Amino acid sequence: GEGPVTVLGLGAMGGALAGALVDAGYATTVWNRSPGKADGLVARGAHGAATAEEAVRSGGPVVVCLLDHASVHEVLDPLAGDLAGRPVVNVTTTSPAQSRELAAWAAAHGVAYLDGGVMAVPAMIGHPGASVLYSGSPAVFEEHRALLERWGDASWFGEDAGLASLYDLALLAGMYVMFAGFLHGAAMVAPAGVTAAEFARRAAPWLTAMTAGFAGFAEVVDGGDYTVPGQQSLEFSDLGDILAAGAEQGVADDAVAMVQRLIGRQIDAGHGKEGFARIFESIRNPA
Ligand code: NDP
Repeated sequence: GEGPVTVLGLGAMGGALAGALVDAGYATTVWNRSPGKADGLVARGAHGAATAEEAVRSGGPVVVCLLDHASVHEVLDPLAGDLAGRPVVNVTTTSPAQSRELAAWAAAHGVAYLDGGVMAVPAMIGHPGASVLYSGSPAVFEEHRALLERWGDASWFGEDAGLASLYDLALLAGMYVMFAGFLHGAAMVAPAGVTAAEFARRAAPWLTAMTAGFAGFAEVVDGGDYTVPGQQSLEFSDLGDILAAGAEQGVADDAVAMVQRLIGRQIDAGHGKEGFARIFESIRNPA
């Protein structure tokens, strides 16, 4: 079998991560604050430890998947001495600032720290489509890459431990705004007797096709010239018709009005003839 690894925290996600390692033949030691959650993993071949302290003594990297930043400190602070010189991979969701704080804590205790952001739900772990974003110690990432890839695609973004979390949250920002846009459209057609399911069948391929536009927007944003020809202008992108149709249907205008405001700020600043991608500036450089 593969070398030893410890997993602290066996909630929905920690349990899935530990399970994938057990299935891959890693000598996996598991611990959870409340008893019972290790039982299924122990039956599959994991070693159950009675305390976190005992769990980290089994050697190898220590994977941490707890609730939040505070719970990570609660569990790891008393173990600082045991963790010195050990690799810690923390995939608990934390803010970029909290990830950096944990990296500084780790550095002060001689712990090699890798921070991770899981882009998957537990059922996806170990299956295609799952990915985990990492930042922090490049040595931990390289040395334990095979183990990390048991969970899904593994990418490393840089030594700043906050980067993975920042990237994770930026991707979620895009996801939630898109979800709100889909639900806004569903609400617009609902009074016309269109079910949300019917709308979803049309919206999913439409929005999927529209993601092809990201690369073009990105080229303009990175080039910094919003006047390059061939773009849809901000003036042309006025969402007045969409807002008017929504008002006729009696729906709240928040989701669309938000985009209209971003467009409006650039038109008001005299950039109406420039490309739609310029709303990046409304967001990046708020007045
Ligand atoms: P769960 O609520 O299922 O599990 C939380 C875990 O944290 C449990 O093991 C719990 O122990 C433990 N815990 C909480 N507080 C403490 C504490 N003070 N001391 C010790 N242990 C503690 O959550 P998930 O497993 O779903 O999520 C874990 C992390 O993974 C979170 O940061 C989450 O954001 C992240 N994540 C989850 C995803 C998901 O889809 N589930 C997706 C992406 C990231 P106990 O059993 O004793 O309560």
